Amino acid sequence: MTILIGAPGSGKGTIAQKVQAALGVKHVSTGAILRAAVSNGTEAGKQAQGYIDRGELVPDAAMANLIGELLDQQPRGAHLLLDGYPRTIAQAELLVGITDKYGIDNVRVVCIELSEDVILKRLGGRRSCPQCGASFHVTTYAPKVEGICDHCGAKLVARPDDQPETIRHRLEIYEEKTAPLIDWYRSRGQLVCVDAQEGSAAVARKIIAMLSAD
Ligand code: AMP
Repeated sequence: MTILIGAPGSGKGTIAQKVQAALGVKHVSTGAILRAAVSNGTEAGKQAQGYIDRGELVPDAAMANLIGELLDQQPRGAHLLLDGYPRTIAQAELLVGITDKYGIDNVRVVCIELSEDVILKRLGGRRSCPQCGASFHVTTYAPKVEGICDHCGAKLVARPDDQPETIRHRLEIYEEKTAPLIDWYRSRGQLVCVDAQEGSAAVARKIIAMLSAD
């Protein structure tokens, strides 16, 4: 299992898509799963929607059910690439219990580092596919046809939680709740940090090289 940790807009989703395409690992984005639950109107989606719209974290207890069910559905031995989970120390502690239960002992954590001004520019131009979850950027990672998803042809949208006020709130929450995970994993000897200034493709190449060397 590989866990990606990084602020909103650091490129986790794009990087994970590239690593999945290159290595066939399974990209699991809790944000994409929650957005799908919201658009399908499920009970979990209804509970999560307010938190997502406000740029806050869905409570750990609700996330525990979601991640437990999700990991139960994965084929044994699949290499999972977690994007967006864990996001709190409590989630990381729960994940230790889950990986122990499944006998997953090779857990690597990649921390994606990017300055806040670059993050703000990226999120402002981000366009996402409401159908398959792929993300693009109006200038740096434009789709082949403007406004249309390369993968499934759906019309791209700016995520409601990518509005400027919500972006700032998400970054504050990242600093308060998620950034402490970096030291938590470092102290367990599981952390590798990658500078994302050169762009998502370069980060993906580094991760692909890392995982291929295993
Ligand atoms: P993301 O696509 O990873 O930026 O996630 C979008 C939103 O989904 C977040 O701002 C949270 O509201 C929610 N979310 C995703 N993953 C988690 C998680 N592990 N814990 C709590 N909330 C989450």
